[in-house]
This record gives sequence, structure tokens and C-alpha cells, in this order.
Amino acid sequence: MTEILEIKDLQVLAGDKLILKNISLKINPGESLALMGANGAGKSTLVRALLGDEDYKIKSGQITFLGKNLLSLKAEERAKLGLAFVWQQPPVIKGVELFTLLNLIQEIHDGDYDYQLADALLFRELNNNFSGGEKKIAELVQVLNQNPRLLVIDELDSGLDIENKKIVLTALKKELKKRKIALLIITHSGAVLEEIKPQKIAILRQGKVICQSRDIKKVLNTIKQYGYQKCENCQNRL
Ligand code: ADP
Ligand code: MG
Repeated sequence: MTEILEIKDLQVLAGDKLILKNISLKINPGESLALMGANGAGKSTLVRALLGDEDYKIKSGQITFLGKNLLSLKAEERAKLGLAFVWQQPPVIKGVELFTLLNLIQEIHDGDYDYQLADALLFRELNNNFSGGEKKIAELVQVLNQNPRLLVIDELDSGLDIENKKIVLTALKKELKKRKIALLIITHSGAVLEEIKPQKIAILRQGKVICQSRDIKKVLNTIKQYGYQKCENCQNRL
């Protein structure tokens, strides 16, 4: 099976500081990978590297997305290929209504996702005074409209109350399944993972992948009992 995403021995610098050290991860078509780790472990840095953020320099290693060398592509080419991101803190876009942006995305990506989920937000200035939950819903509708092959979500649960979490997770699950979209999800919440049911989990600690496993329950239990530190000893490698 060809992977959707393969990250091989990736080292990433922020300024002259080495943040990610020899990261190797794989995501197969339609598969979900959960990435966990303490604050400052390097999760968002990995997301930035995938996105092509120029503040984060690739020191060495490879990223292959749908068989293409991702690192040779500009951020917009990556998006066009089917790599989509849901942001932890999406910016306010002054003077632009969500509806206008959704139509633009639809044009660029031949999207066909209906906007129903974000009905109440369509004619508001994007993210301006949106609640945490509304921001996530607006983000989700935008990325689903991009026809993604791989969705990267950094901390879906931050700012979401139980009710909105349910709405967002239900919509997300349905679309992942229906359109066989692969997922890389960063979360601190075992409850989110119970809903999403990822096939794999990876734990990041001080810029290294210290555990990869398909036994999500076991890893979550270890974290619950001992924190991330213990993951280093469990020697789970896929
Ligand atoms: P996480 O998302 O796992 O909480 P981050 O990837 O945001 O962690 O950060 C990992 C480490 O890299 C932290 O020590 C953070 O301070 C550092 N870092 C991230 N971005 C930069 C940057 N642009 N310049 C300097 N240090 C950075
Ligand atoms: Mg982060």
C-alpha cells in the first residue's frame, strides 16, 4: 500500500535551535494517526514543517505526500495537492465573510462540501468575536471544502464545550469515512480519541517520537497513570 504521508528522519530547526530530531511517521490512505505529547514537545513544529512555514528550516530528512517530495513544494502547492490544516488559533480576517472565503475555496479546490454546519456563521466577518467552538466549526467547513486527502488538526478540542465538541467530532468522523480522508490529529484529550478511534498513536517528547503503537487504549492508560515520561520505556515501535 502506498502511504499518504511518509516522514523520514526529519530534523527541523527554529532559528538555530533543533526542535525536531529524527522524526519518522507514516500514514496510510484513510488512516488516522493521533499525535500526543507534553507542551513544548514539538507537535506544532511538525505541523509547521508540513505546512511549509519558512520560519522552520528543514535540517535533514524527507517528507513524501502522495508519492511527491513535499519539501520541494510551496505551501499553496501542498494545499492544492490535498493537504489541509485546522488551526489551533485561526486569525481574524478583517472585512471577509466566511461565505466569501468558502466560495473562493470551492473555486480553487473544486470543493463540494455543503456549508450547513456553519449556517449561523456564514455572513459574519471570519473569526471576529467567534467563540472557540465557532472558530473550529468555521475551520472545519473550510478545510472539508478543500477536498483534502490528509487533514492535519492541531488541538481540535481547545475552546470547545461538550456540545460543540460533539457537533464537530460527528461532522469530522462522517466526512473522514465518507471521503476516505486520512487524519493527523494532535490532542491532549483521550475523549476525543475515543470518538475518532485512530488506528495509530505516536508520542512526541523533546522533539523525538518515543512511542508508536496501534494499541491506543494501552498507550492512553499509560499516559493517564504515569504521564508521557513512561512512554519512553514502553518500547512500542511500529
Ligand atoms: P507543542 O506544540 O508540542 O506544544 P511546539 O512545537 O510549539 O510544541 O514547540 C516546541 C519547542 O520549540 C518549544 O520549546 C518552543 O518554545 C520551541 N519553538 C517553537 N517555535 C519556535 C520559534 N519560532 N522560535 C524558537 N523556538 C520555537
Ligand atoms: Mg502546539
